[in-house]
Amino acid sequence: MVKSKKSKKKNGKLTVIAGPMFAGKTTKLLTLFRVLSELGFSVLCFKSEATSNGGMGHTRSHDERPLPVIYIDQKKPERILQYVAHDGIQKVIVDAIHFFPKKEFVAVVKLLLKDGIDVYVNGLIFDYRKTEYGATRTLMGMADELIEQYSICVKCGAKAPHTERVAGGTEQSIGTTGKVKAVYIPVCASCHEVYRG
Ligand SMILES: [Zn+2]
Repeated sequence: MVKSKKSKKKNGKLTVIAGPMFAGKTTKLLTLFRVLSELGFSVLCFKSEATSNGGMGHTRSHDERPLPVIYIDQKKPERILQYVAHDGIQKVIVDAIHFFPKKEFVAVVKLLLKDGIDVYVNGLIFDYRKTEYGATRTLMGMADELIEQYSICVKCGAKAPHTERVAGGTEQSIGTTGKVKAVYIPVCASCHEVYRG
């Protein structure tokens, strides 16, 4: 007997890696990229950038290992969909998602998942003021797998879920083309101080 039921595409799975800076988030993505590629999956990696024409490049984890990425203008996360539209991409990795606007990036992730693509993202949960940053928190609530990573507070040695700015202006995000280089340290909630410039 032939089943008349339409075969429905299975939704992709969402993995979210969240935490402060210096918590090994990019390293984790790099490991995922290597393993998935070795298993023969077709994987594309993206990273947000302040201004971009969609160039290729490498992003480095803090321990200096490169992840091959396609840079995406942080104001236009929907460009990811254009790259994924062809070539039978099965897995999508996105580094530093907090730079993308929340609503637009969540919409992109939903479309990818609906298309059966597995999505792996990492992002900061909080900015240097300890306020919510981009779509990370929203996506944590949607995640099939949530990996929260922590650093060590440089002031007291406790578990550090926060990032403190110690130099470089007071904008929420300072792009790679910014004039002032921001400097950050990982801290716990009680040691955290808001940088006032
Ligand atoms: Zn501390």
